[in-house]
Amino acid sequence: MRDPLSPPPAIQHNQHAEIRELFSRYVVPSYGRFDLVLSHGAGSYVWDVSGRRYLDLGGGIAVCSLGHAHPEISETLAEQSRRLLHVSNLYFHGPQGRLAERLVREIGPGKVFFCNSGAEANEGLFKLARRFGHDEGRFEVITATNSFHGRTLGGIAATGQEKVKKGFEPIIPGFRHVPYNNLDAIREALTPATAAILIEGIQGEGGITPADPSYLMGLRRLCDERRLLLLMDAVQCGHFRSGRFQSFQRILESDPGAAGFLPDGISMAKSLGGGFPIGAFWIRDRAHGMDLSMLLGPGTHGTTFGGTPLGCAVALKIFEVIDRDALQNHVRVAGDWLDGELRRLVRTYPGVVRGSRGMGFMLGLELQPREQIPAFAKDDRASSLQFVQRLHQAGLLTIPSGSQVIRLLPALNIGRAQLEEGVALLEGALKAIS
Ligand SMILES: *Cc1c(COP(=O)(O)O)cnc(C)c1O
Repeated sequence: MRDPLSPPPAIQHNQHAEIRELFSRYVVPSYGRFDLVLSHGAGSYVWDVSGRRYLDLGGGIAVCSLGHAHPEISETLAEQSRRLLHVSNLYFHGPQGRLAERLVREIGPGKVFFCNSGAEANEGLFKLARRFGHDEGRFEVITATNSFHGRTLGGIAATGQEKVKKGFEPIIPGFRHVPYNNLDAIREALTPATAAILIEGIQGEGGITPADPSYLMGLRRLCDERRLLLLMDAVQCGHFRSGRFQSFQRILESDPGAAGFLPDGISMAKSLGGGFPIGAFWIRDRAHGMDLSMLLGPGTHGTTFGGTPLGCAVALKIFEVIDRDALQNHVRVAGDWLDGELRRLVRTYPGVVRGSRGMGFMLGLELQPREQIPAFAKDDRASSLQFVQRLHQAGLLTIPSGSQVIRLLPALNIGRAQLEEGVALLEGALKAIS
């Protein structure tokens, strides 16, 4: 018999409030999160739990190199998971060997160690520096102010920003910070205990600041003269984000004297796995008359999850798609266009934005300080946070960097139409504010 009554209305779950409540009860509150609860994505769009769509120009902070839910990544994850997820580093397997080969082909003669994150990759470089200097009593690593090298104890010691260290003292000894892009400052900071210099090719968290070509060349000379390791943190600026595999390759490409420039170690993560957590560091085969990889012989370093078949298969697939779809060239061409558009916005809205920086798909727009933007003056949060939030209301995701810069770190395969949409959304917000 049919029920004469119509069914009661479905219970309307407010997923947004429900998920926020779970976080406030159960998740360590170490992040200042924006009020967005995301549910799924496709390409360069993501949707929140209420069905609202956002254009994602933040790329999960330079991680989602092929955007969201890329079908070939999903397929690779599924396919590899049916063969082997994990075997430990007690055995050999194909994907790790092939990925190491590919990274060496992109960078230069050397060897690769796999781990799971950027901080962990940098930890490996710190250990390399300590082994390198050990027998001579050298252990210090010089890094730059405004740098960012991760949140482990070693990472915060290396990071040139006080805010990450506060309350975690005593800080691990052996790191000194000097102003970026300043060779004299490095020369003055050298001591008999210095073993290495670590810099980002383009400072990311510090507000998108690229290294000067003369700085990189000068550091290489200095490290050669003083028997120091030149280490580069490419966790954010690497993996084609600059329009070349490594940012130093792009920065130095118009300098004929720089042919053959190589650092002695490079850390990688973020875009390498396109969202699957994988990190790596490359070390040069010959430096200061020795094979650096011999410093990390059996038993010196390790990790359970580093270089799993699954992570390596995904990273290899990302390389394959980048090659096939000529994404390196796309990043250069579209990045130059986007850079030009940001410059135009700076000229058109000088009351809100004061400059733009970066290259490829690693671009920053510097805002005026909060007090100088009437629309932001009443709110005491930094202008970067207020602007990022306005952009959320307009349907656009970007990443704040410090108090005055917003970063654009789109997927390497984002279409021109999406970039144009992003610029239009940025301009709409600027117009409304100015
Ligand atoms: C994100 C980042 C790190 C830390 O990477 P995690 O994967 O978060 O540990 C290190 N260095 C730079 C330059 C970064 O941008």
